[in-house]
Amino acid sequence: MVIVKRKELSLLERLYVPEIARGLSITFRKMFEKKITRQYPEEPLPKTEVTRGQPRLVVKDDGNIACVSCGLCEAACPAYAITIDGGETDRPIEREPKRFDIDMLRCILCGFCEEACPKDAIFMSDELELADYSREMLVYDMEKLKRPAAAMRKRIEYVHKINDRWRSAPRPPMLADQHGAHGHAPSASTAGSHASSPTAAAQKPHAG
Ligand code: SF4
Ligand code: SF4
Repeated sequence: MVIVKRKELSLLERLYVPEIARGLSITFRKMFEKKITRQYPEEPLPKTEVTRGQPRLVVKDDGNIACVSCGLCEAACPAYAITIDGGETDRPIEREPKRFDIDMLRCILCGFCEEACPKDAIFMSDELELADYSREMLVYDMEKLKRPAAAMRKRIEYVHKINDRWRSAPRPPMLADQHGAHGHAPSASTAGSHASSPTAAAQKPHAG
């Protein structure tokens, strides 16, 4: 058992007036300091590649969606915000979602979907504003979620840079990505070493 000795207060400490005066002095001092209030939305928030806004689906340069409806992001989402119905395509090997919804009211912008995706098909955008007139309108379907790869380029490069710490094989350059590697079937070297996959990440030693 630990006995905590009560601190003896001095006379000044027992009088409440000096403490009130000290508090008011801080109040007055702050009144004349430079204001740090941001006049949002007139003054928008600064956005960088680190900004983790709402998730968006990447559309490759050939016009096809990069998602192959594997369902990993749906499984990784802690808020159960993602709903995917997969479907077949005429293209060899590839599948694509027939339905891909994200309930933005559920989404907590955690980025787990971005980390889980093995096809570089979903990334956190810098889109932060979220307002609409009904709850239904905030369930974003595929058309609302799609963004061209070029528009997501900064974030894609940033995520690649972070994940490349774990890669054993060099990643194809970004321009190569834009011309097909976003939707490339995972080769033995890339699929196995994609650090953003939870399994792969679990197998990698921590950089320390
Ligand atoms: S950011 Fe997080 S909560 Fe939002 S859809 Fe992705 S995994 Fe789910
Ligand atoms: S993890 Fe990627 S490829 Fe798989 S369903 Fe989600 S967005 Fe599509």
